[in-house]
Amino acid sequence: MFENFDVKEWASLKDYSTIKIGGKARWMVFPKDFIEVQQILKIVKNNNLKFFILGNGSNTLFDDDGFDGVIISLKKLNKIEFKDNYVDVDAGINLFALGQKLKMQGLSGLEFCYGIPASLGGFVYMNGGCFGHEIGELVEEVLVLKDDKLLVLKKENLKFSYRKSNLQDCVILKVKMKLKPEQSEIVEENMNFFFNKKKETQPCDLPSLGSVFKAVYGEKTIYVSKMIDTLGLKGVKIGEAEISKKHAGFIVNTGNATCKDFKKLVELIKTELAKENVYPELEIIMLDK
Ligand SMILES: Cc1cc2nc3c(=O)[nH]c(=O)nc-3n(C[C@H](O)[C@H](O)[C@H](O)COP(=O)(O)OP(=O)(O)OC[C@H]3O[C@@H](n4cnc5c(N)ncnc54)[C@H](O)[C@@H]3O)c2cc1C
Repeated sequence: MFENFDVKEWASLKDYSTIKIGGKARWMVFPKDFIEVQQILKIVKNNNLKFFILGNGSNTLFDDDGFDGVIISLKKLNKIEFKDNYVDVDAGINLFALGQKLKMQGLSGLEFCYGIPASLGGFVYMNGGCFGHEIGELVEEVLVLKDDKLLVLKKENLKFSYRKSNLQDCVILKVKMKLKPEQSEIVEENMNFFFNKKKETQPCDLPSLGSVFKAVYGEKTIYVSKMIDTLGLKGVKIGEAEISKKHAGFIVNTGNATCKDFKKLVELIKTELAKENVYPELEIIMLDK
């Protein structure tokens, strides 16, 4: 069905998620340009197949039984164009590679997210952020596929809020951002500063999906990781999934953790938080078979 594209049948999803969990996907397709994304989606629709758009898999928990449909990986969409202080970036590029390119170009603004193993498209979709910044602040324009049509959405049509964007019913193909000129050495210093801060506080050496739960905003903001820590749950393990000893908001894979282990740990955390009347939303995406 996808013989005209770069396709892997029965691809091991473990290799495409930063937590290294997951069974096999019936098809994993790697479009090389926007037209191929459109063509693949047309085949998906005509054949009534399930599909999932994959960035870098740093927020996606795959099922142990895999995925009975088409995973469309955008990792081959990774072109960058510079014009003055603007940068036009394909959605599949990962934030490490993008950070390095911006440093060489002498453009500043995105250093805060250096070290996050996300694709730019996934980060914009989630309005990812840290250290008081969110990616949405920098986005000027987005090229998307929506209802089979290519659309350019300008800043005034974009809505970003905490880990949300109004792009969640679109395929994000390209993102235009406005940055500031800066000496490469300074950009590099900033990148190292933020990455080192992450390495100090997060288990960057073990497979994970970042924070599992969103913070609960209300009269009083509840940072779920702090609460999990206070409840003494750091280090609790089910199978080979563990509530990180370094950052209680992360669940890490200490070996061969399964999706089942991960989900059981999530349920355990939810049960303990419910006893304190705290009901956080999941930040991660759980993709069922
Ligand atoms: C070690 C570590 C640290 C992290 N630190 C942070 C942090 O500081 N701040 C933060 O916000 N997050 C953090 N995360 C979480 C994660 O990196 C973000 O949620 C990120 O936005 C996910 O991007 P991705 O490309 O990996 O998305 P994926 O996991 O591939 O996909 C996530 C969701 O986005 C959708 N999606 C992906 N790309 C597109 C696209 N182009 N068009 C439409 N939909 C798309 C997918 O369908 C899915 O629903 C961290 C994760 C790890 C593993």
